[in-house]
Amino acid sequence: GPVTNALLYLNNVSVAFDGFRALNGLSLSIDHAEMRAIIGPNGAGKTTMMDVITGKTRPDAGEALFEATHDLTRLDEAAIAQLGVGRKFQTPTVFDMHTVEDNILLALKTDRRPFPVLFSRRTRQEKERIDALLERVRLTGSRDRLASELSHGQKQWLEIGMLLAQEPKLLLVDEPAAGMTDQETADTADLLREIAKTRSVVVVEHDMVFVRDLGVKVTCLHEGSVLAEGSLDAVSSNERVIEVYLGR
Ligand code: ADP
Repeated sequence: GPVTNALLYLNNVSVAFDGFRALNGLSLSIDHAEMRAIIGPNGAGKTTMMDVITGKTRPDAGEALFEATHDLTRLDEAAIAQLGVGRKFQTPTVFDMHTVEDNILLALKTDRRPFPVLFSRRTRQEKERIDALLERVRLTGSRDRLASELSHGQKQWLEIGMLLAQEPKLLLVDEPAAGMTDQETADTADLLREIAKTRSVVVVEHDMVFVRDLGVKVTCLHEGSVLAEGSLDAVSSNERVIEVYLGR
C-alpha cells in the first residue's frame, strides 16, 4: 500500500551538479489543501526542489511521490503538469496584447491555438468559469482591459488565474509578492489562503513579513536539506536558522 497520505512526498532526495549537492537528502511532505512556505538563504536548494517536483530536474537519489502513487522521478514535465502540478515563476507570462478575460479564456483552452479560440463563441459553461476565475483573482473590474495595462500586482494575479484554469492540485509559487505594493501584498496573502482551502500551495518566499501574513507552516532549507520546520515563530527562533541567516 501507499507509504504516505500526503499529496506530495519527498524522501531523501539528492541532486548533484558536477559533484556539488544542490539537494542533499531533502525530505518533505505536503498535505492535501495545505499551504507551506519554503524559506532559506540563497543557494539553499529551493529552486532545485521546485525543479524536481515539476520534472525539470531528475534527482540522483530519493523518492518523489505525488498522490502516493505517481513517481515524479520517472515522469517528464508535461506529464507532471497533467497530473495537476502548476508552477508560477516570478516573472508573469501573460499575453500583453490580449484582454484580461481573453487571457483566462486562452488558459482554459491550452489545447487550441489562440486564433480559433478568440474568434469562437464562448459557451455558457466557459463564461461561468471565466467569471468565477476573474472573481477569485480580483480582476472582475479589469476584465476588458489589456493585460499590458495592468499593474505589476494585477499581472501576477492574472497569471495565478490562468494557472487555476488548469485546476492544479498543487500550485508552486516563487516569491509571489516581489515588487508589489503593501496593499497588493496583503491581497495576495488573502488570495493564496483562499486557494489553499481546496488545493495545496507551496510558496518560496524571502519576505518574512509576507510569510507571517500567510500564517502557515514554514520549512527552512539549508545546503539542500531541511534545517527547521514548524511555525514561523519556532523556525525564526531556532538557533541553527539564526546562525545560517547571520552567516556565522
Ligand atoms: P535557491 O533557490 O535556494 O537559491 P538553488 O536551488 O537555486 O538554491 O541552488 C542550490 C545550489 O545549486 C546553488 O549553490 C546553485 O549554485 C547550485 N545550482 C543550481 N542549479 C545548478 C545548475 N544547473 N548547475 C550547477 N549548479 C547549480
